[in-house]
Amino acid sequence: MRDDLWKPIKTAHPNYWSDKIRLMPDGYSSAIVGLFRDVEQISGGLQLVEIDLLAYPGGGIAASMRPRTDGDDVTDAQKAQLFDLLKSWSKAVGQICQVCGRSPVSILKYMDSRDQEILCEQHMRERRSSDE
Ligand SMILES: [Zn+2]
Repeated sequence: MRDDLWKPIKTAHPNYWSDKIRLMPDGYSSAIVGLFRDVEQISGGLQLVEIDLLAYPGGGIAASMRPRTDGDDVTDAQKAQLFDLLKSWSKAVGQICQVCGRSPVSILKYMDSRDQEILCEQHMRERRSSDE
């Protein structure tokens, strides 16, 4: 991820930041910010959970959360909201372009050992023309 994309995320959301995010594709930056903002909103100013993000080699991100403390400071309503958020977010992030974050997308599969990429039409064209 470009510096101008990951640095603001780290500054604005230090509680949820992980250095792994730096290695993720540029196109996921807005989605990650959106996730952190939604979690913060549900949490009402507290940090209730830790978020673990794992980018799949072929596109998409697995997101998981766990309560930050053993105490039950997360209400059932918040748990349900976070669960729903995680589910819809993981689905959505697998359907955006890895380069720019736009949709709709299709999957570019390489004939060599490179991982497939999930790309929008424009970046699909750019990849194809630079590959020839
Ligand atoms: Zn794109």
